Amino acid sequence: MARSTCSLRSSSTWPPPRGPAVGLPQDWHSSGSSASLTAMANNGDVPGDGSAAGPGTWVEVADRVWTGVLEPDAVTIGLVAGGDGLLVVDTGSTPAQGAALRASAERLTGLPVRAVVVTHAHSDHAFGLAAFDDVDTFGHEGLADELASAPARARAAELGVDPGDLRTPSRPFALAAGVDLGARWVELAHLGVGHTRSDVVVVVPDARVVFVGDLAESAPSPVDGSPAPWFGPDSVPEEWAATLDAVLGLVARGDVRAVPGHGPVMTVQDLMLQRGQVAAVAGEVERLVRAGVPAERAVAEGRWPFPAEHVAEGVPVAHARLVAAGVRPDPPQLPLLGR
Ligand SMILES: [Zn+2]
Repeated sequence: MARSTCSLRSSSTWPPPRGPAVGLPQDWHSSGSSASLTAMANNGDVPGDGSAAGPGTWVEVADRVWTGVLEPDAVTIGLVAGGDGLLVVDTGSTPAQGAALRASAERLTGLPVRAVVVTHAHSDHAFGLAAFDDVDTFGHEGLADELASAPARARAAELGVDPGDLRTPSRPFALAAGVDLGARWVELAHLGVGHTRSDVVVVVPDARVVFVGDLAESAPSPVDGSPAPWFGPDSVPEEWAATLDAVLGLVARGDVRAVPGHGPVMTVQDLMLQRGQVAAVAGEVERLVRAGVPAERAVAEGRWPFPAEHVAEGVPVAHARLVAAGVRPDPPQLPLLGR
């Protein structure tokens, strides 16, 4: 849920509280992994301002592909090792956290970080980028505007990050890019918009792993415990399902693992379910417009597959977008006198 962004969200709700860190299933952890991120939090590198690393450890989800969890938003960080270096997927919420993450990754593997990719502009994914100024950093070309936006700067202030320490990727791309890690090739792709307008997925073909950012989430909602993505004001519900269809095209074979931006690895079936739920949100927004329900009542009067908190910021914006595009209430149905 990275409820951050780049978008038009007020600083008081950007991001909303996530609740306590989510415990991970025991079998999600690799007994062979080391390099505790807790150690990162305890080594003095990470400020004690709520952005400290969480209680997780590196988890090897495929051959030399790890995940870790960083607070305060329980974001899932990815790490991919090649023959001569590392790719880091997302960077944590502050430059200090990014630096601690980098040190931990290099201790774990004995390899230097060669490149970084940011899956989208939300604070927990992108605000640690300044720790990687000396390597190639990748992300969608839209990140430059999003990270310079007023909500992003306000979120930086909340986290105690100097807005001057926010970075945009040095290797922006519109559709796709590749990273050669030496004996391992990683592909980065913008498959469409959804959670934000700059979502990027990271494909590790030989490991059969796809990092999907916040296009899907498996972490239980603090509201009711169900997995739920986040529809912020910068989300695009009406196009999100089509983007997830493109992701599903990558993971159609059952042995592919999808790593979401929050929560443990998802199966193809998990993704398909969430794709359907996301489509239901978009369909409900259009139904409300056609029923004549105004934007300010849409969240309350709609029926949602996720807790209302997860759609509350995105629905009014999507509603207004449909109206601006010419979608109008349906004409009254006969009989006019109600008999
Ligand atoms: Zn996000």
